[in-house]
Amino acid sequence: MKKGIESMKTDVLVSIRNLVKYFDISGGWLEQLRFTGGRISRQEVIVKAVNDISFDILKGETVAVVGESGCGKSTLARTVMSLYPPNSGEIYYQDKRIDQLSEKQLKYYRTRMQMIFQDPYASLNPRMTVEDILSEPIHFHHPSMTREQVKEKIIKVMKQVGIDPDWQDRFPHEFSGGQRQRISIARALTLDPDFIVADEPIAALDVSIQAQILNLLMDLQQENDLTYLFISHDLSVVEHISNKVAVMYLGSLCEFGETEHLFSNPNHPYTQALLSAIPKLGQRFSHTRLPGDVPTPINLPPGCVFHTRCPYAREICFRQVPQLIKEDGKTAVACHGAAEGWLK
Ligand code: SF4
Repeated sequence: MKKGIESMKTDVLVSIRNLVKYFDISGGWLEQLRFTGGRISRQEVIVKAVNDISFDILKGETVAVVGESGCGKSTLARTVMSLYPPNSGEIYYQDKRIDQLSEKQLKYYRTRMQMIFQDPYASLNPRMTVEDILSEPIHFHHPSMTREQVKEKIIKVMKQVGIDPDWQDRFPHEFSGGQRQRISIARALTLDPDFIVADEPIAALDVSIQAQILNLLMDLQQENDLTYLFISHDLSVVEHISNKVAVMYLGSLCEFGETEHLFSNPNHPYTQALLSAIPKLGQRFSHTRLPGDVPTPINLPPGCVFHTRCPYAREICFRQVPQLIKEDGKTAVACHGAAEGWLK
């Protein structure tokens, strides 16, 4: 059964349906053995990173995914990019289901969907020049392009991201962190994608450079008609750059909706706590501190995964998983309290 946010518009570019991604970290056969009560048993250890997530991304919009470290947002991004196979669920790109395609069948979609990684130091091969880094995906996906056409494309994308095309013979270590991230963005643009997943693209950069890269991403979105899935833990950045926000907690979607509405009127208790952590000019800082720690994704709490830390939890929360329900047409919330009206 489909659930979650389903757009009424037809201009959906990427659709995620009931996506589940688990990792088996049991290790080898011997490591799985447990001795309990004088008996030997075998125990699997499964990290439940993404649990039943559904939402649509419309053409030209930026959907941000937020949540604490370890909530599954990067796993969600990599699964959407088909870098990890999902355990279940569906991923559609323009109505074409792509989660079951072979690597050969995915080749076309890999040109349409590109990714920018967090660490520009690790994501660029230090032994390759900028020219090699930028030409590699073009040679792989468009082998018939002539040398001149490839050169022309490289110069175009380098100009677009603000790197002097005369520097294409240089190696990554000759650039600053911000310039490297620009080269990573240029590499993502070489195949003229429609959809870019940006996984914490400014988190590893100096604060002084972050705004420049954000502005560059926003300019490129206008110029190249791009759609973004933007992963971030920085709520101020998300408020600035995104049209919609997906709030994740422990692998589950708590709330999804239009950025402006969600920031001014958060419904889910976890969203409320997250947003309270943003300092506001002229206001005394009062952060809602959640009790306890985030439970392990190996052993998820039953019912609502947030119930161990939620100040509003009631009996139903301990046993029944809340469904994502549209609250007001602009946001959808997975919370029994919000649905039944007993949140303050
Ligand atoms: Fe809190 Fe219950 Fe809502 Fe979960 S469902 S966020 S525990 S009130």
